[in-house]
Amino acid sequence: MSEPTTVLHGIGVAPGIVIARALVFQHQEIPFFRVPLLRQEVKLEVARVEQGKELTKTQLSAIKARTVAALGEDHGYIIDAQMLMLDDPLLIGRIEEVIREQRVNAEWAVKVTLEELASVFDRVRDDYLRERHGDIFDVAGRLARNIAGATHHALEKLEKDYILLAENVRPSDTAQLDWDHTAGLAMEVGSRTYHTAIIARSLGIPCVVGVGDLMQKVDHGAPLVLDGSEGIIVVNPDRATLREYRTKKRRQKVRVQKLERLRELPFETKDGYRLSVQANIEFPEECTTAKSNGAEGIGLFRSEWFLTRSPGAFPTEEEQFVVYRQLAKQMKPWAVVVRAFDLSAEQLDEDMGESEPNPALGLRATRLLLKHRDLFKDQLRALLRARAHGDLKVMFPMISGVGEFREALSVVEESKQELRKSGVQFGDDLPCGITLEVPSAAATADLLAKEAAFFSIGTNDLIQYLIGVDRGNDQVSYLYEPLHPAVLRTLRFVVDSAHDAGIKVGMCGEMAADPLLVALLVGFGFDELSMNAVSIPTVKNIIRHLSASESRAIGDEALRLATVKEVSAFLGEELRKLVLSET
Ligand code: PEP
Ligand code: MG
Repeated sequence: MSEPTTVLHGIGVAPGIVIARALVFQHQEIPFFRVPLLRQEVKLEVARVEQGKELTKTQLSAIKARTVAALGEDHGYIIDAQMLMLDDPLLIGRIEEVIREQRVNAEWAVKVTLEELASVFDRVRDDYLRERHGDIFDVAGRLARNIAGATHHALEKLEKDYILLAENVRPSDTAQLDWDHTAGLAMEVGSRTYHTAIIARSLGIPCVVGVGDLMQKVDHGAPLVLDGSEGIIVVNPDRATLREYRTKKRRQKVRVQKLERLRELPFETKDGYRLSVQANIEFPEECTTAKSNGAEGIGLFRSEWFLTRSPGAFPTEEEQFVVYRQLAKQMKPWAVVVRAFDLSAEQLDEDMGESEPNPALGLRATRLLLKHRDLFKDQLRALLRARAHGDLKVMFPMISGVGEFREALSVVEESKQELRKSGVQFGDDLPCGITLEVPSAAATADLLAKEAAFFSIGTNDLIQYLIGVDRGNDQVSYLYEPLHPAVLRTLRFVVDSAHDAGIKVGMCGEMAADPLLVALLVGFGFDELSMNAVSIPTVKNIIRHLSASESRAIGDEALRLATVKEVSAFLGEELRKLVLSET
């Protein structure tokens, strides 16, 4: 009798459908045991840690070389980050301290240190930062195994295509995987921004993460269907399910092939209205995916990446300069917009965050940078220097009005003065724009437009502040309405204000990637749309079927409607007409 069909749900982080068998990937357990030491044995035990550290570094260098060979230069930094952790006193220094203070063996000291670090990470409220503890556990696990002299697992060359299942494919595992035969990937842990999810996305491997009890529910070799768009895994699919997914897969392939043919064509409506569509990136290596999806530049680089790469350690001017220069070079001839650090007080200093009752309305983003001018200037000097090497721009998040924007500009001027004084080469003409996401800025867009080089509307935040609805709160998510007439009126006013002042206006919030809204945004007159790279081909396809004049009429009509329901039904009907006219 055949096994029963089960459906498992997770988060789809890399699109596509795969039908293949399961390959279950297990980590070797870390050998944690406690041995009390005599005083004279302590020195020897510390030396074992140092030896383990050196061996770990050698292994990581080899893994880095393999990672770069298999996945490209851009992915090497993941291993660099782990090597840096090995030099961090919080890890090795603390392990050695525990050996000395508690007179215990090195393996046990690793365990104690990891537990301490885990409790620190658990208290961090930022999801992204919290997730970085995976990297520390990865490197510490390797270190513990090296201290104990255990061997490391490695995935041998696979013979067939499999769907790889794991509790967690850690960043350093990725170099040992046979990606050529990994048709799909599913993990119990992870989110969209987990390193392994990003790698899967950039390699085009359908991936589902956050699947609870995956390892208990699926046996090695079980037949599976994995849908990376919907975040679904079907275990032991029956014939009807297989038929359904084979059809979906075929349709998807045709769609992708059709979109690929568009890659070289411009983002232009039928009547010649030219837009620029760009990519939002959270990691420098996403430039590859941005370019392969046809992005005309980076419309938003969330520079907080520096802090997630090495939590707690603020990047130096030099470190930032190297990354910004590289980004600008990589994206030539297109521009790269770097958003100044959009950090909360908690991300900068945990204790400060604790005292803020309303972090979303608190000391964050540009407000925080204006309080920490040294950090702000390090970033600005790095950007000004990198501007000499490519088309780089900066925008300031959460600006609330002209006064605050002028203050930010005055720090740019101070940074220029400093660079001038030290005789360092820099680009004097760095365009300074505004991430428009606070209602008070939107209401004064006409005044701001006279002073800013460009606007980029951050609708993710603008909607939450405009409607007064926490973007992360499930209880009120039904009120988070991009099509609320208040949002539409605000967008239109900001676009018109920008154009009256002769500056360009873009959108970098998630709204920009919604197929239903493309006609509306074209109709409102947006110059630029920036979105996750994988949405770009679909949006391009819609743009190329639109007419700018008809879109303007759609925009005008949408503004006359009173409720979200009416706007949504109207735009749905317009999109349906467009799809029908295409077929
Ligand atoms: C936004 O607010 O729309 C935006 C793009 O920024 P983030 O999602 O990082 O707040
Ligand atoms: Mg924002």
